Amino acid sequence: MAIAEPIEPSAEGRRRLRLASPATREGIGELDVQTATDVAAAVERARKAQPDWAALSFQERGRHLEAAARRLAEAPDRFVEVIERETGKPPAEILSAELLGACDALRFYARRARRLLADRRVPLHLAKTKKLRICYRPLGVVGIITPWNFPFMLALNPTAQALVAGNAVLLKPSEVTPFSGRLVAELFAEVGLPEGVLQCLSGDGETGAALVEAGVDKISFTGSVATGRKVAEACGRRLVPCTLELGGKDPMVVCADADLERAANGAVFGAFANAGQVCVSTERVYVEDAVADEFTRRVLEKTRELRQGPEGEADVGPIIHEPQLEVIERHVRDAVAKGARVLAGGRRNPAYPGLYWEPTVLADVTHDMDVMREETFGPVLPIMRVRGEEEALAYANDTRYGLNANVWTRDKRKGTRLAGRIVAGSAVVNDCMTTYGLPESPFGGRKDSGIGQVNGEIGLKSYCHAQSIVVDRFGSKSEFLWFPYGARKSRLLKRLLRLLWSTPLGRLVS
Ligand code: NAD
Repeated sequence: MAIAEPIEPSAEGRRRLRLASPATREGIGELDVQTATDVAAAVERARKAQPDWAALSFQERGRHLEAAARRLAEAPDRFVEVIERETGKPPAEILSAELLGACDALRFYARRARRLLADRRVPLHLAKTKKLRICYRPLGVVGIITPWNFPFMLALNPTAQALVAGNAVLLKPSEVTPFSGRLVAELFAEVGLPEGVLQCLSGDGETGAALVEAGVDKISFTGSVATGRKVAEACGRRLVPCTLELGGKDPMVVCADADLERAANGAVFGAFANAGQVCVSTERVYVEDAVADEFTRRVLEKTRELRQGPEGEADVGPIIHEPQLEVIERHVRDAVAKGARVLAGGRRNPAYPGLYWEPTVLADVTHDMDVMREETFGPVLPIMRVRGEEEALAYANDTRYGLNANVWTRDKRKGTRLAGRIVAGSAVVNDCMTTYGLPESPFGGRKDSGIGQVNGEIGLKSYCHAQSIVVDRFGSKSEFLWFPYGARKSRLLKRLLRLLWSTPLGRLVS
């Protein structure tokens, strides 16, 4: 059974999908695909609810976020259960990567929004007769479209930011994991969020496309490059601002002076956490020749210790979406056909009917293989030997993606320098993946990995319009630059230009 399989339409004529667990392939529920008419009605409800929500103070809005964090922290089991049923992830992974991050984001934005989005008076460097105030106004109604790999956290995090800034939100989670996305709306409803301020739409690409076309004030999209392009095109046509958080092919650079034990642990976690279904997964390793054998030996030893399967304790869960398993299989097959050696894994796990791919380590890989060029989004770690740091950087940058990167060396200054030369939205030294999880840190890709940034001050402000309000201070009857024009005014303006921009006095004044 496919993971989201079409079934007979509903009585109202909506398309319907049947969902199955990726871990066991047993049915777990059904889903109506909401239409453009449903979406339009939701936008109307959101428009009605938004002004009252925006009229509340930051503290009042923040209180809802704090209450949501508390509720999540006090009773996480229901959330873990729903996410586990839908994704097959090990509970510890759900708690660490979905719930812990969600609580952190909720409290961070609840407490910081007031300061980060406070009205600011900005002194003017030249126009001393005016006062400037910058006010961060909510945009209005924000559409948030999310993927299936972290179905709770990636839905909750942008939602919390948009809400605390005073927007109403229409959330459209992935059709592959709709119930985990719906938990976000349930959580906020349980802590008393006013009706209409956050609505969850159910459906697939049809519903997402309808949301983009529905006249909302911003689209915050997280997903694949291919869909991101369609969203950007539609937003461009409608002049709707959008942020696009897209795929990656993150490089790991292991220098000869790295702590190899930490680097090997980091490689295994960076590549196999969430079964490799992380936008900032380590997808390719470049290791200096001198330490390549020892690094690879340690990686293999740790890979063989990983546990997989639906029963008991496990480290590596299933692939959540069946077509992704086919991508993984195709990349590994292509690599082997072009000369790569499989050192571990390299196949579907034959012990289980679910969508399990064995943690895979590849050697002798080259840049003409798909596994080094396209996003694999699965538990596959290709390792390539390089002659030195310069060669590692050249390979790291030989990609159309630019999301994140990690560099491993005992010399932290060198690590920071090398990381800065990788064209990526963010980078990590002697660690992996942490950038998305830090609410202070702006996050967003370069090249095909996206447009705009989310999280932190930049992310929060992206849910606002910075409205500048200029006030005249002295109330004189007219201004020098106003009418009438004429030869005399031109002469005076030329003198003013010279005075201000070509004399020492001008440098002092402006
Ligand atoms: P996807 O692009 O297939 O789907 C994402 C969402 O878009 C889903 O909700 C889907 O229903 C919706 N959608 C589909 N067609 C649409 C359309 N025409 N208009 C509007 N919405 C539409 O992505 P996916 O397979 O769910 O997610 C995996 C991808 O997401 C990977 O490439 C991964 O790297 C990326 N990702 C990026 C980040 C990041 O922060 N950069 C985070 C997580 C995942």
